Amino acid sequence: MVIERLMVLSGVSLSVAMKLIDREASGICFVIDGRRLVGVVTDGDIRRGLLDGKTLDMPVDSVMKKEFFTLPVNSSLKSIQEHLGEYKYIPILNEDGEFVDLASPDRYHQIPLVQPVFDGNELEYVTDCIRTGWISSQGKYVRLFEEKFGEYVNCPNTLAVSNGTVALHLALVTLGIGPGDEVIVPDLTFAAPINAILYVGATPVMVDVDRYTMAIDPGLLESAITARTRAIIAVHLYGHPADMVRVMDLAERNDLKVIEDCAEALGSRYKDVHVGSSGHASIFSFFGNKTITTGEGGMVLFKDESMRERAKMLRDHGMAPEKRYWHNEVGFNYRLTNIQAAIGVAQLEKIENFVEKKRWMANHYNSCLAGIDSIQLPIEEKDVVNSYWLYTIVLEPNRVNMRDKILAFLNSKGVEARPVFFPLHIMPPYQGYNTHGSSYDVATHLSAGGISLPSSVTVTQAEIERVCETLILALTSDGSLATS
Ligand SMILES: *Cc1c(COP(=O)(O)O)cnc(C)c1O
Repeated sequence: MVIERLMVLSGVSLSVAMKLIDREASGICFVIDGRRLVGVVTDGDIRRGLLDGKTLDMPVDSVMKKEFFTLPVNSSLKSIQEHLGEYKYIPILNEDGEFVDLASPDRYHQIPLVQPVFDGNELEYVTDCIRTGWISSQGKYVRLFEEKFGEYVNCPNTLAVSNGTVALHLALVTLGIGPGDEVIVPDLTFAAPINAILYVGATPVMVDVDRYTMAIDPGLLESAITARTRAIIAVHLYGHPADMVRVMDLAERNDLKVIEDCAEALGSRYKDVHVGSSGHASIFSFFGNKTITTGEGGMVLFKDESMRERAKMLRDHGMAPEKRYWHNEVGFNYRLTNIQAAIGVAQLEKIENFVEKKRWMANHYNSCLAGIDSIQLPIEEKDVVNSYWLYTIVLEPNRVNMRDKILAFLNSKGVEARPVFFPLHIMPPYQGYNTHGSSYDVATHLSAGGISLPSSVTVTQAEIERVCETLILALTSDGSLATS
């Protein structure tokens, strides 16, 4: 809302004020003298005035309230949010009593980074689990979730597991990766893939990423391959697919296994093919902030059906499928529960709509932020459908030093934003593996300048506009940001 549209000058007639309230459908307008706020008038005040014998040509000042609740411009977001419980609108005044902003619930509520949506059949299916007693890892929803998921991504060999990280572990174990093997992983990612490499006792080799897709840079893969390299984990970061054509080409020429980490890319496609079907295995996560969620949960997919069978046995303690309580191998308990799967089935029923909403959101951000030359917007390469898990911008190098201030400013204004991941190679558990002397310039740059903006499927046009206004304000305030 543009506050100027709710202002009338002291001395204008009641009919002018009434027309403005009607036009803005606000129920209220603010009377100013110069920039000073001198009164507040509601449609009720005007109606009572007319009943009292006032006429429409009389000045607005004759019915306005001169005493009203305001807050000073340096009020904390928390105190504004508290008072908004009591007042619908709160004028924000500077030290000179000038009307500088109008607090209203739609302008000052918290905009979350990502928020799950359970407005479908979630409750019904979960209730079904409880009513029927099928609450553990047997029951119809687990298999149903695997089947429906397989249909959506167009890969039949799906296996539901307890989270995305164990999906990665299970994929590596099933593909036979272990001690002595090197596995290539992008330097910029959530840490789950490199942790999983370390769980199996293999050696991670970190490779820099592409500046625009933020995924592994295929041009750098060749030089990272040694005689011990056995696999590549490609991560489709923030929703943009990695260049799987070049990754697969290189993998085939060097006889390497490929795992696609699609945790952030449900709904993303390349040439109409869903991510996850190029690699020998792929994984998804259903953590609370992912595009669909089961609270905690994951899925591992295999190109080869026999691999799925082996992973299924390992998921269930390594028990021989034909002989209960007989173990041929050390397995795990990586099962998803029927309750979680029930939520997953309900979430999956809405996936097309979720992805559509995410793409609408990105479009809207793109148009609000177009032409601002100090930031890099997320891209969508030719033939790609980006599902925009998090809409992530990157400050240009000349602005990188403002990043943390901008983040603090956004968060202080109720816009939940967060930095991009740290490059893996600088963190204590992974530092020691940075033995190839790579520089990781791009990962370092993206990490220092990256900001993920609110990206819920429920985000509204007005919220996106508020996020962009706040961001632009932060970018143009040359470092003098108040974050109280
Ligand atoms: C979320 C995520 C995972 C898996 O996370 P879990 O919380 O274990 O489900 C793996 N890789 C990436 C890139 C992720 O973002």
